[in-house]
Amino acid sequence: MFKSLEERAETITKLEMGRTFSQAQQAGMKAAAETVPQLQKQWWHAGHPKRPRLNHLAMHGQTQPVDKPFLLGSLSMMFPRDPKAPISETINCGCEHVPWMEAWGKDKKALPIYNERGEEIARRGPRTGHEEELVGKFKLGTVKPRGGA
Ligand SMILES: [Zn+2]
Repeated sequence: MFKSLEERAETITKLEMGRTFSQAQQAGMKAAAETVPQLQKQWWHAGHPKRPRLNHLAMHGQTQPVDKPFLLGSLSMMFPRDPKAPISETINCGCEHVPWMEAWGKDKKALPIYNERGEEIARRGPRTGHEEELVGKFKLGTVKPRGGA
């Protein structure tokens, strides 16, 4: 899997730094939700543009209450790179979770997501219903996360 020890160290460091960032983000949102109970969180897929992690692409735009996990099939993650998730769901993950409120509406500055042919297939931002179409394009049918919960 790794070409060198350096590559392995870099991958693990990126994972742990990203994990720390997401844990801090989660803690901040949890604190904010105490004064803003309507506050929710939203998953933003941001992986390799031409080789997206399909489970995370399918979760793109999903919103949940701050204290509830993001869900996909049997997969349950409080935030990207959740240490309780299988390594197959966390390694090289570049996703983010961000504060979200229904009243904020659609994100006008959403960023594009590309398929393996480099065509834009979605924009990062609120869930639009388009995600299911994306899953179809990638021939996922039913999404079955690998590994355990
Ligand atoms: Zn991801």
